[in-house]
Amino acid sequence: SAKEHGRNMYQVYDHSMNKRNYQSFILERDLRKAIRQNEFIAYLQPKVDALTGKVISAEALIRWKHPQLGLVSPRDFIPMAEETGLIIPLGKWMKREVCKQLVKWREEGTPIIPISVNISSRRFLQKEFSQEIRHLLEEFQLEGKWLEIEITENSIMRNEENVLHTLRELKDLGVKIYIDDFGTGYSSFNYLKTFNLDGVKIDRSFIQNISSESENASITTAMIKMAQHLKLEVIAEGVETKEELDYLIEQNCHYIQGFYFGKPCSMEEFKTKYLRYSTEFPLENLL
Ligand code: C2E
Ligand code: MG
Ligand code: MG
Ligand code: MG
Repeated sequence: SAKEHGRNMYQVYDHSMNKRNYQSFILERDLRKAIRQNEFIAYLQPKVDALTGKVISAEALIRWKHPQLGLVSPRDFIPMAEETGLIIPLGKWMKREVCKQLVKWREEGTPIIPISVNISSRRFLQKEFSQEIRHLLEEFQLEGKWLEIEITENSIMRNEENVLHTLRELKDLGVKIYIDDFGTGYSSFNYLKTFNLDGVKIDRSFIQNISSESENASITTAMIKMAQHLKLEVIAEGVETKEELDYLIEQNCHYIQGFYFGKPCSMEEFKTKYLRYSTEFPLENLL
């Protein structure tokens, strides 16, 4: 691939383009091609109620199956996709993929759970967003409760008119809305009482080493208390260890997503692991 890029470089490189621009150029070009050639797959990661052991939902996470590089993490291409607007077709693809899978599972008699998709603020802030969701649910004949939405704090800080409209429409459809990476974005929590949200996902940076780092512990405890006071569901992201899990349960937060219960995996694998006849975890994984 380096060779190929090297060859193409003769055609595209001009001396005003520095290395960084050149790499962006290549990434954007490859991304466009990848969309045309359908090189993406959706992984799923379980969210578990640690008190009952039930898988309550899954998060859909995009992967790029790059012909030379293998699986590419979204952290390496989502920013570029957002910058170029390619996030719109990518997001469309992802939502359809999730709906398709839910319908397929339902038709074959697999017990289904809600699946959440990450929505870029760029898309969320567009007027037509809730319409896209409405049409999608109609097309696939799915109830809104099967599709959940994760947005970041900065999505709902701007353009309040559209946001209110969109959130109302989604509520009408029965689609739940979660604030992702909770605590890392905007410095005011005012939006929590302005908007009718369903839950928050506490960012992994607060969860890490929560039992030994007292700052993380206090912040997380405060966030859990505040969210629960506002009647919001609280999900902890990035839980990797038993210590972190124990601490969270002690603080009354038992909806857990993280490597401790399961890494993101293909939809096939997700089905065999978590959706067979019961969605319950073996008890030794729990308390
Ligand atoms: P996110 O929405 O906050 O997703 C959670 C990320 O944390 C995922 O990374 C997941 O694999 C990772 N994670 C979960 N549990 C653990 C853990 O215990 N330890 C560690 N170290 N990591 C854990 P991933 O899949 O690389 O995705 C990164 C970000 O890319 C996502 O963060 C999301 O912001 C974005 N993203 C992924 N898929 C999509 C998509 O379809 N659309 C959009 N707009 N963004 C996406
Ligand atoms: Mg997310
Ligand atoms: Mg997150
Ligand atoms: Mg994120």
